[in-house]
Order: sequence, then C-alpha cells, then structure tokens
Amino acid sequence: MTIFYEAYDNLYVNLTNKCPCACEFCVRNEEDGVGEGNHLWLEREPTIEEIKKDFENFDMSKYNEIVFCGFGEPLERIDDVVEIAKYIKEKTGKTIRLNTNGLSDLIHNKPTAHLLKGAIDIVSISLNAPDAKTYEQRCRPSFGEKSFQAMLDFAKDCKEYVPTVILSVVDCIDKEEIEQCRKIAQDVGVNYRIRTFI
Ligand code: SF4
Repeated sequence: MTIFYEAYDNLYVNLTNKCPCACEFCVRNEEDGVGEGNHLWLEREPTIEEIKKDFENFDMSKYNEIVFCGFGEPLERIDDVVEIAKYIKEKTGKTIRLNTNGLSDLIHNKPTAHLLKGAIDIVSISLNAPDAKTYEQRCRPSFGEKSFQAMLDFAKDCKEYVPTVILSVVDCIDKEEIEQCRKIAQDVGVNYRIRTFI
C-alpha cells in the first residue's frame, strides 16, 4: 500500500482513491502511479496510525514540501488530512501543500475551508475550465453543474484560512480558456498557476 511517495523533490501523501469527479485528463485514466509512487491504487484507506508509522520511514531533509494529492481527492478525508498535516508540521516544520478539486463543501455538505486553518500552508485548487458547463463536461463531478460555483466559493473561503491560495489549470486546455481562467483567478483574488499535463 503506497501512502507516501516521492515526486518532483517533494513527498506526496496518498490517503484515498475516492473522488467525486472523473476528469478527462486525470492521470488515473492512464497510469497506476506518479513519480516513485508506482502503485497508488489503495487496497483500502490507511488508518491514521498506519500513516504516522509509514511517515517515520522517510528522511524529511530530502524534500521541499509535503503534498496531499495522491490518486483521489484528499478532502474526502478532510479530518484526517488536517490531523496528519498538523502532525507532520509539528515534526518537521515543512511547508504543507494540498492539491484539491475544491469540492469539499459539496462532499461534506457544509462549509469546510475553516478546517484547514493552521494545518495547510498552500492550497492549490483545480479550476480547469472557464465556466460551469465546460467544467461539468470536462471534470464530470457527481454534483453536477453547481460544482463550478462551489469550487470558486471554496477558493474564496480559503483566502481567510490558508496563507497561499492557488487556482490552477492544466496546460492542455485551449489558450483562450487559459486566459479566461487567469481572469477568474484575478477576480477571486488568488494566485494562478498553469500545470503541465502529465
Ligand atoms: S479531481 Fe483529481 S483525482 Fe479526481 S478525477 Fe479529477 S484529476 Fe482525477
């Protein structure tokens, strides 16, 4: 069971394979892993104790950041993300980043950004489309068209609780959309990042 894996000079955390989306560009469609994490499909979700125990096997001086990402949506386990992030922060002082689809409020049916306070340093939220219809077609969220606005609302809420908030797109969408998404990030008042499509 691969819980932690190395990639891009960071240590990634793989807590769950659950995700309410089925993005057309998801790496899970083509591969079983990323970086040194060759097998990211979990037989079952690891417990908090298993995660903490496995963490002890890694030399943290080798990594720039700890990144909650993996082969699923980390915030499906938001309480566990917060607990593990605080545990690692206390032990290492490393920057903690969370990569998320931003649909946590819909997953848990309540506002959730405040739960990240004091646990997450950087949250990178996948924007990936300039409007609700394109987002629904491209990311196929189980919550339907309301997902796009919920994701933007989550990004706005995160500004209050997380030091750095990023809206990101993959570079395989068309150039006009990349610029429209840049404008959305500006309007929300957060950073913007164009990710390389794997
Ligand atoms: S949100 Fe992430 S894990 Fe979920 S389908 Fe999309 S790319 Fe894959």
